[in-house]
Amino acid sequence: MLDQLKCLIEYQKIEDKRNQLIRSYEEGPRRIAELEKEFDYFEGQFLAKKDEWDNAKKAHREIEQQMEELRARVGRQKTRLNEVKTNKEYQAILKEIEETKKDVSQNEESALELMDKIELLAKEVAELEKDLSERRSVVEEQRAVLRQEGGDLKARLDRLESIRQMVRERVKPDLLKKTDFLFTKQAGIAVSAVENGVCNVCHMNIPPQKFIELQRDEDIMQCPHCHRFLYWAGHEGYCVTVEDIDSI
Ligand SMILES: [Zn+2]
Repeated sequence: MLDQLKCLIEYQKIEDKRNQLIRSYEEGPRRIAELEKEFDYFEGQFLAKKDEWDNAKKAHREIEQQMEELRARVGRQKTRLNEVKTNKEYQAILKEIEETKKDVSQNEESALELMDKIELLAKEVAELEKDLSERRSVVEEQRAVLRQEGGDLKARLDRLESIRQMVRERVKPDLLKKTDFLFTKQAGIAVSAVENGVCNVCHMNIPPQKFIELQRDEDIMQCPHCHRFLYWAGHEGYCVTVEDIDSI
């Protein structure tokens, strides 16, 4: 078994694991942002409804005040009735009183409508507030879980990183340079198994002569198509999973 090839295979396994952990690690903040965005949406709905409720209450207060002023006006108009000298003036004031009373009754109707609206809005606001508070608890709970998971993933990545460094140190500099280049250029896969004469990653056939050489296990070979380093899956020693990596 070629020690350097064995190192490369381990290095590949570490990279696979590392990429998988990084994806999960990055998923956490994304999920938290999603949860917060969803919560903001419901909070917006609640605040808009509460605004509507506050405005209705304000409009009701204003209408009550207007009615008070109108009633006071009726009082003043009635006093003036006692002071008039002519029938014409008397009739004119009576007409004014009727007009004012009409305004009062219109306002009373509006006030009643507003009261109904306020009652309805109060119920809606209370329901939204309850829903929002439940959502807040869920978001806080999930955020705590995701942060905890993030912390665990970070610790696993740190442990993996130390193993990664050890493996990198074991690979000869030239080979390491080529491998790192392949990681960058070939979607994070620098090493591929060959099964049934086919490169497992690019799925192209390895020429028979090359395949025989690969099985002899004398030199490190690269796939003639994708240039990844190759090992034959029939060599069990290369296929043994590194325990340290799997347990991380
Ligand atoms: Zn290939």
